[in-house]
Amino acid sequence: MRIINGLKKINGLLNDYESMSRNEKSEFYKDKCEYYQGIVELSLIVACLTTICFIYSDYMINGSVLPTLVPRLSILAFIAVFFIVTGINESTRVMVIMDFFLAHGMVIAASWTAYNLVDNSNSVTGIIIVNLLWIVIGFVATPIDTLINGVVFIIEIIITNTFNHYTNYDVILSLEIPCIIGIVVVHYIMTAFYLDHYRVTQKLKWSMVTDPLTMVYNRHLLEKIVSENALQIQSSGEQIAVAILDIDDFKKINDENGHYTGDLTLYFLGQKLNREIHDDEYVIRYGGEEFVLILRNCSVDEARARMEQFRTEIEKAKDTPVPFTISIGVSGYEGDYSDTLIRADKALYKAKNTGKNKVVVL
Ligand code: GH3
Ligand code: MG
Ligand code: MG
Repeated sequence: MRIINGLKKINGLLNDYESMSRNEKSEFYKDKCEYYQGIVELSLIVACLTTICFIYSDYMINGSVLPTLVPRLSILAFIAVFFIVTGINESTRVMVIMDFFLAHGMVIAASWTAYNLVDNSNSVTGIIIVNLLWIVIGFVATPIDTLINGVVFIIEIIITNTFNHYTNYDVILSLEIPCIIGIVVVHYIMTAFYLDHYRVTQKLKWSMVTDPLTMVYNRHLLEKIVSENALQIQSSGEQIAVAILDIDDFKKINDENGHYTGDLTLYFLGQKLNREIHDDEYVIRYGGEEFVLILRNCSVDEARARMEQFRTEIEKAKDTPVPFTISIGVSGYEGDYSDTLIRADKALYKAKNTGKNKVVVL
């Protein structure tokens, strides 16, 4: 029963995976790599350094450490290249390529060592153990990467056999091919399982910043913007304006029409604001019936005009749950979101105290 449930779950996840667009898949793999790269890197470095200890078993075979000393230590050069390249370029694609590079560095160092051993009949063990590295790298790579890598590895075995003449060459190849197929299948399943984690994390991140009633951003996002003074000016000359919007006499709407109608009114306003703003702008539910708008590439005069038009649309709208009006305070961003919000709030206060249903700029 558990197996059937597991299969059903994997099938659902694989369908989800296959339905993802190219961009979504690339975001997904980026996230997977960021999550696992640290542990993959650590495992590879530990594995590389461990191979240096094999100098002792080389000594048991050759009776001297000298013939295999340089091949064994050559792994240090691969480690150095790995750190230099990943230090210069931290993109996830480069990380994955360098993980494979380091693992193949181990294969090259081991093949070179085998060449210097008087008896290399243990190579079959080494070659099978290398598959553990492909499994580890599978945590960050795509199943296609693993498949291509498997083919490269088999070619590597064929080439190194020309000078190492492995005692069990046929056995090595006949074992390696099913190993690669198995690893690709396991990676495909592992990818599906990460997708499960990815979806849950996405939902959590989304719900952390989304107001469940109006479906616009919530205060968490505003606090992040204010405390980190995020959303810096992107291009020289870009102006940002902040508007605070409050429903007039909302308490009366609740009292006369019930809380449910009040909720519908909030949802209506949130959705209408979402349609009003541009892609790089934000609508945030600030409090009960107050919303904050962050308007990008927008001067204070433009913000005033946009808000004035919005206010008129609400006043004249026929599709609202109940007729209502709004008051709006607007202020221009001058380098500090906290100050801008305080000024916009003062402007809103003035709008409320001078008759409501109006836009005031401060
Ligand atoms: P003003 O014109 O000065 O803004 O007056 P107001 O009545 O709109 O403002 P007041 O602050 O007195 O009342 C706001 C009301 O909003 C009180 C509260 O019950 C209501 N409210 C807050 N959150 C919600 C909500 O999520 N749903 C509903 N239905 N009402 C809410
Ligand atoms: Mg109000
Ligand atoms: Mg209010």
